[in-house]
Amino acid sequence: MSAYPNPTLHEGPNGLELEGVSLVALAERHGTPSYVYSREALSAAYRAYASALEGHRARIFYAVKANSNLAVLNLFARLGAGFDIVSGGELSRVLAAGGKAGEVVFSGVGKSAAEMRQALEAGIRCFNVESAAELERLAAIAAQMGKVAPIALRVNPDVDPKTHPYISTGLRSNKFGVAFDEAMTLYRRAATLPGLEVSGIACHIGSQLLDPAPVAEAADKILGLVDRLAAEGIALDHIDLGGGLGIRYKDETPPSPAAYLAPLLERFSGRSEEICLEPGRSLIGNAGLLLTRIEYLKPGVEKNFAVVDAAMNDLARPALYDAFHDVVAVCPGSRGTPQRYEIVGPICESGDFLAHDRELNVAPGELLALLSAGAYGMTMSSNYNTRPRAAEVMVDGNRSWLIREREQVADLYRGEQVLAAD
Ligand SMILES: *Cc1c(COP(=O)(O)O)cnc(C)c1O
Repeated sequence: MSAYPNPTLHEGPNGLELEGVSLVALAERHGTPSYVYSREALSAAYRAYASALEGHRARIFYAVKANSNLAVLNLFARLGAGFDIVSGGELSRVLAAGGKAGEVVFSGVGKSAAEMRQALEAGIRCFNVESAAELERLAAIAAQMGKVAPIALRVNPDVDPKTHPYISTGLRSNKFGVAFDEAMTLYRRAATLPGLEVSGIACHIGSQLLDPAPVAEAADKILGLVDRLAAEGIALDHIDLGGGLGIRYKDETPPSPAAYLAPLLERFSGRSEEICLEPGRSLIGNAGLLLTRIEYLKPGVEKNFAVVDAAMNDLARPALYDAFHDVVAVCPGSRGTPQRYEIVGPICESGDFLAHDRELNVAPGELLALLSAGAYGMTMSSNYNTRPRAAEVMVDGNRSWLIREREQVADLYRGEQVLAAD
């Protein structure tokens, strides 16, 4: 096993390697900053879920928002995953990557009429409906199109996932899902609407969960509701328990997929419903890293700064959630003396940091890797400060593939116009 949270990262003769590929060589070939992913790591993460679910009526819907590169989606499709999407754009990506519409579930609180039409036209597997108003809109649009929309209600089980407030989604105070007590009424209503076919129930209580207990508690509440619905003649075919399993960024010890799923599978034994899951972070987070080069070392009175060529526009999580990403020198055993550094980017914001107070032994021009950056890295990136977004590379054994070209500056103002005349 690797000493790093990225399982296929290890030391080679010329510094760190992901699988069999040298990060120094990748930086030379593709430049920096670049996101680098390991095919083996994402496949192993998927297989851990798949083997835990073997023998059960179960389905994995990869949460596209974690990392939506077409190559990533294509690999998950080939491994057998369906997809959890939150926009029409993500649906287009899934289809462009070779995913099947019939294996897509559509979550999100703000689905537009156009997105509903797009998804109905494509024939997705299920809409996870998050409000009464959305239910009515979807029923009307489906009826207009002469289609029937398969639906699940996303129910808010009001359990505390004990994670960061920005990524907890299952509390009554969150914007997500319909209140638990409202669900019965909405299911009864849905069952009467001709444009809808009641298919399942969904919940998603939060992200970066390190304890299986809150999800099991949510499952108990959901199963109770499913049984009450069945008693009224509203039978559900699938129960979607969302995503949320956490990963190791620093010293967390998340349960394995098998340990996380065990209490859930126990609750499903003897039941006929399909169990659906929507993992994102735990499938791709530790398969990826962000490769960046040190531009300057800047000693300060109170703090030393390592100014790197990646910034908060490339990796927003530290600035957004104060998230921790391990930072490692790509070529260990440098000539300098170890120092503590603030790792910061070139963006004109004091909040533009990637890591605080890290001991590194590095020189200007050297490469750093920000680990555990495969999920919510590239997908949350922006062009702030007119910075082209990073390249993305997939490593596969001894080979590597450029899976997204680095953006060009001209791409960034394509579509903009100056006023025609005075
Ligand atoms: C974000 C999200 C997921 C994935 O969450 P992870 O923590 O990345 O596993 C799954 N389902 C829904 C509805 C989401 O919003």
